[in-house]
Amino acid sequence: MGQFKVIVVGAGPVGLILAIALQKSGIDFVVVEQRKHAAPPTAFGIFLWPHILRIFHQLGLYEDMQSIGLVMTELLNRSSTGEQLEISNGFELLEFAHGYPTMLFDRKSFAEVLLKHLKGSDQLVKTSKRVTNISTRKDGVTVDFADGTSEDGSIVVGADGVWSTVRDFMREKAPPGLFSEDSNPFSAPYQGLFFRVPRPESLKPGQTVYVHQPHRQLMALVTDTEAHMTTYERIPNVSERTNFSPNNVSDEDIKYWFDVPVNEQVTFKDLWDNKTIGGMVNHDEGVIPWWHWDRLVLVGDSVHKVECSVMSPFRGAGGCCGIEGAISLVNKLNRVLSSNPDPSRQDLSGAFTAYQAEREPAARLWVNVSRIDIDLYTSKAGPASKAATFADGRAIPIAANSPVLDILPFPDEKEGVVPWKRHPKADGQSKGVKARL
Ligand SMILES: Cc1cc2nc3c(=O)[nH]c(=O)nc-3n(C[C@H](O)[C@H](O)[C@H](O)COP(=O)(O)OP(=O)(O)OC[C@H]3O[C@@H](n4cnc5c(N)ncnc54)[C@H](O)[C@@H]3O)c2cc1C
Repeated sequence: MGQFKVIVVGAGPVGLILAIALQKSGIDFVVVEQRKHAAPPTAFGIFLWPHILRIFHQLGLYEDMQSIGLVMTELLNRSSTGEQLEISNGFELLEFAHGYPTMLFDRKSFAEVLLKHLKGSDQLVKTSKRVTNISTRKDGVTVDFADGTSEDGSIVVGADGVWSTVRDFMREKAPPGLFSEDSNPFSAPYQGLFFRVPRPESLKPGQTVYVHQPHRQLMALVTDTEAHMTTYERIPNVSERTNFSPNNVSDEDIKYWFDVPVNEQVTFKDLWDNKTIGGMVNHDEGVIPWWHWDRLVLVGDSVHKVECSVMSPFRGAGGCCGIEGAISLVNKLNRVLSSNPDPSRQDLSGAFTAYQAEREPAARLWVNVSRIDIDLYTSKAGPASKAATFADGRAIPIAANSPVLDILPFPDEKEGVVPWKRHPKADGQSKGVKARL
């Protein structure tokens, strides 16, 4: 086998950030994506925590991210009858804690910034490449695509989302029983609507509005131009595949939302009737027990699903958790490549195991804290927002413990009152890393 090369399957937020971290580490890679465009418009924004903005700062993306993102400011809690329950300054507290703000991004602009910072992205990110087969050998992997082409590499990273094809191939190769045989290894205790609507004047940019109902919650995240709406509704646990993509929802099925006031001026129906794009999805949650097999490893939604992704100022966990994982995986690859530029299957398995050992507890904590939080907000007796805030506090240490890239010096990082636990390693740039850069 020649130079070590990573095949990243999936150009979602996690796959693209992984690619940037690989490039900063001088590790050869290609990203393959089934869609025609790596930056498609999607029906919901992405809301990211301060520790992810710190990672962006380290990777040199922060300034561009600031120019396209919106800093979240206040959080307004309302009852289903429109009564204002409380205004929380949780976002300010988060910035005070960590030194970076919490921001909301339009996913298309977000992907465009990532592609801009990936040198040679027009060659390195190959679109319209749907994976149809993966074969592994003693010294490498071959990935085949629906268009009849293929890619050779050393390892495959499955950043291909909740319905991961890479995970399916891992299951095929692994001994029976190791991976769940279900088509969905996660389960959904909540279901919800998501949609985007031009911003009504009465909703303030940077504001988050929650409207509570027993067993249900509505949330509006407001940008300069739009409101990004999502709902959470308790359902009996289900494990079925639903896609986060625009789909038809009948008015009849959701009419119980229609009269719910989002503020004094607009009701749910006013917003729903003006939506530009939207649909319904199950909010799956869970963490799978095996994150790698042979030369294949998973990252992002393919391996953990944090269901209630943006429920409070302390949420936004799905993408955040995946981005943390991408950085952790690149750190482990850097380490193994420093001691052997052509690692064996066993060396790689050691690196993947270290990655899972580091990330699995954090992913489980994200899932559990998010779940407690949404259960408290949607409790039958009314939103237990004080208790939920207590649960939220659990997330601050997770953020403070977030990985950064070991090999990349980061002299100008910001810090709040909660110190970052991890920093680039003083000896991060080993001879091997320097030789690659
Ligand atoms: C309504 C909603 C709102 C959310 N809001 C937030 C939020 O505010 N903040 C947050 O942090 N998280 C949020 N999340 C979660 C977040 O969207 C996901 O955690 C994140 O997108 C996961 O990124 P990913 O790159 O792992 O997977 P994805 O974004 O799913 O990307 C996977 C990519 O792989 C490609 N792919 C799949 N199969 C193949 C194949 N066979 N061959 C080639 N390519 C393939 C797909 O086309 C896709 O581009 C939200 C989720 C939902 C449903």
